[in-house]
Amino acid sequence: MMQPQQRFDTVLIANRGEIALRVVRACREMGLKAVVVCSEADRDSAYARSADQSICIGPSTVSKSYLNQNAILLAARLTGAGAVHPGYGFLSENTRFSAAVEGAGLTFIGPDADAIATMGDKIAAKSAMVAAGVPCVPGPDTELPSEPSAIWAIAAEIGYPVIVKAAGGGGGRGMRVVLDEADLLEAVSLTREEARKAFGTPALYMEKFLQHPRHIEIQVLCDTHGNAVWLGHRDCSMQRRHQKVVEEAPAPGISDTLIGPVGAACVKACQQIGYRGVGTFEFLYEDGAFYFIEMNTRLQVEHPVTEETSGVDIVQQQLRVAQGEVLSMAQGDVTCNGHAIECRINAEDPATFMPSAGLITALELPVGEGIRVDTHVEAGYKVSPYYDSLIAKLIVHGRDRADAMQRTRAALASFKLEGIATNLPLLRELFDDGAFAKGETDIHYLEKWLKTRVAA
Ligand code: ADP
Repeated sequence: MMQPQQRFDTVLIANRGEIALRVVRACREMGLKAVVVCSEADRDSAYARSADQSICIGPSTVSKSYLNQNAILLAARLTGAGAVHPGYGFLSENTRFSAAVEGAGLTFIGPDADAIATMGDKIAAKSAMVAAGVPCVPGPDTELPSEPSAIWAIAAEIGYPVIVKAAGGGGGRGMRVVLDEADLLEAVSLTREEARKAFGTPALYMEKFLQHPRHIEIQVLCDTHGNAVWLGHRDCSMQRRHQKVVEEAPAPGISDTLIGPVGAACVKACQQIGYRGVGTFEFLYEDGAFYFIEMNTRLQVEHPVTEETSGVDIVQQQLRVAQGEVLSMAQGDVTCNGHAIECRINAEDPATFMPSAGLITALELPVGEGIRVDTHVEAGYKVSPYYDSLIAKLIVHGRDRADAMQRTRAALASFKLEGIATNLPLLRELFDDGAFAKGETDIHYLEKWLKTRVAA
């Protein structure tokens, strides 16, 4: 159900790092006050200093700070915040947190608990998408039965290879690919056991396993008055272990005629479920067809590439619709300009991918037309071992893809970060790869490229 919206002048940011800083900036630009919560490890960080107020809510361990719902709610009460922005990760897709924030009389900057719950259950999400006419991966939008004969029959109907997935799965876990009938029952029982332990529900479903898809996603923005738009598409196929490394907008080689109806179906789905705020529909794309896999009910790491191409400040829009404002744009106002690429710069060893904590001794960021760096780090900043290794996002906008790629190469070359290991050398090499430069590589490309690189 939609909650009545109330206006607020202070936003509490229940997150850290670059995204906390990003939200502080949006608040500033809109004349709102920003409060950040931080752990002891983050107390002296630039983003904690940049806010109007920062409150230390606990020790470095995330369960005692950034995931501590009571401490966050208490901080909101103490600072007079009227709204809570959850960022991404941490509590951003937590039904209980969204409900607790609203229960405390505050605005949760994101969808309501019901929408988070529906989209968090992959079977419920799939069935809502089927109902709205969003194309899904072949396979039933119902829970897998337990009788072996029924399980075999479903797989035979879909056709091998199939993938068995946990309804409550996330973060690339709780999935098993099955190549033929002989392995099916064992895969089902292993995944069921894993799901019961990891996600608290043994519910599974089955779908066709696509073998060489690309990852393409659609950004949506909805107000609380039934208006919704989609802001174009992104390609996030450059992944390692289901983690995105490079993202771009628009997805190369996808025509408006092909993706237009998919975007329109996403908007319709949002209206049907009474969705509010920003969200992302993730699709696998293979042989000219789109297949919905999941919806993320929050702001995403890669939102800047859409901001650069659409000219829409997604975080400001998030704050506006949370204030109850009517969307200021209609679908016809949304256009895509040029091409944008984001590189995730991680504090990790470029060969072993082991996280690297420690002191950043020198930092020189690339500058120039079309270059944006979203980061919370600076020279003298100590990268903590407690958190995600993402330390900066390099976002480059060019007139077309070739221009954006060339500008990215130049920006990566002049990006100087010393003291700790980062994936910058790997990104520099990747941008010299011919197949990536051509575009339209699938979700397995990066891992294959990494193997040949080690072998070379
Ligand atoms: P999670 O919520 O764990 O991220 P997703 O459903 O988004 O799970 O799937 C994560 C990744 O698993 C996808 O990006 C894709 O690489 C792979 N995957 C999921 N479903 C399929 C499928 N039907 N066919 C091929 N790959 C799939």
